[in-house]
Amino acid sequence: MIRHRCRITNCPRTPQDGRTLCDTHRGRLYRHGNPHQPHTPTDQHAIEAAVSNRRTLPGLRPAERRAAGLTLSALGLPASEIARIFSVTPRTVYRWRSQTTNAA
Ligand SMILES: [Zn+2]
Repeated sequence: MIRHRCRITNCPRTPQDGRTLCDTHRGRLYRHGNPHQPHTPTDQHAIEAAVSNRRTLPGLRPAERRAAGLTLSALGLPASEIARIFSVTPRTVYRWRSQTTNAA
């Protein structure tokens, strides 16, 4: 039996029987309403609020927490204080910082 390909252009994956989208693109469509969007975009307003209030807000996602922590780092806050704000270990803050340095 010949399996058809996912209907997204250039997608090499094969959908399950009876479906036109592979699991990856199907999940994206379900989560975001757009099969091309790989991640939920970060909420810039939530990051800025966490930075200015110096506290974690409910529903802040890990990527947003990391971005807020890095912003506070850039403002000169010590890792121990940032760790306390976001309820992570200081080691996590050092990890965020080093990952940023490596990416740049
Ligand atoms: Zn696909």
